[in-house]
Amino acid sequence: MKKTWIVLTLGTVLLTACSAPSAANGPSASPADPIPSATPVPSPEPPADPTPEPVPEAPAIAYRMKDNYALTPLDPDGNKKMVLLTFDDGPKDKEMIESMLDTLDKHEAKAIFFVNGYRIKQNPELLQLIHDRGQIIGNHSWDHIDLKNESKETIDQQIEDVQKIVAEMVGSAPKFFRPPFGSANDYVKEKVKEEGALFMTWSNGSLDWDASAKNKPEVVIQNVLDQLHPGSNILMHELPWTVEALDTLLDKLEEEGYGFIDPRTIETDSP
Ligand SMILES: [Zn+2]
Repeated sequence: MKKTWIVLTLGTVLLTACSAPSAANGPSASPADPIPSATPVPSPEPPADPTPEPVPEAPAIAYRMKDNYALTPLDPDGNKKMVLLTFDDGPKDKEMIESMLDTLDKHEAKAIFFVNGYRIKQNPELLQLIHDRGQIIGNHSWDHIDLKNESKETIDQQIEDVQKIVAEMVGSAPKFFRPPFGSANDYVKEKVKEEGALFMTWSNGSLDWDASAKNKPEVVIQNVLDQLHPGSNILMHELPWTVEALDTLLDKLEEEGYGFIDPRTIETDSP
């Protein structure tokens, strides 16, 4: 709405600006007179203190997801050394969420928090906090069940109910969906698309859920670095050792020359 208004307003201003001189010099202007429009008049300098541009609501689309769920720049010359940070299965715990948000802010990074509906019910204030701190909410189904062998009705409900509750709470429905366990079927993908969201699993699994990483932040970090590739779609979870690993992990990714993709710059089918 806002954009349309600006375009219309700008259009009107331009039309007014263009039509004014020709009207003034139209019928009364002698053919011998110099034609004003033929002499380019230098545009006036912009005012010294221009009104600041309104901050755009979302940055421009710059990345698309590949078939292997890694990300790649739309522009062939765009920055390929970027990763997407994602955290699944929350929101669970205020202390963990706040620590993650602080670390992301410290690194000026954005991430997708793939949330479950039943967790939102338990901790609505944490969903709000993630959104208010400028991070992106993704849909991870209501109950964290394996959707692959569920009925269409169940799949619909598991996806729709999260779209709805998030939209009600933060004003817009998630634009990203990740199935629990990375397990889905064609109907799940179809349904996600219908909801205007982008289906993804991941291309770099931190394995932070595995027993081998329990209480071992260094294992989480090593797992991510071992699988690091341009456009890595990094799967992590809201787990204490991942929270503990995060600052060092982001440091190391930066040392390797990687930046963090703003999820809002990823192309989706959503309007
Ligand atoms: Zn999960």
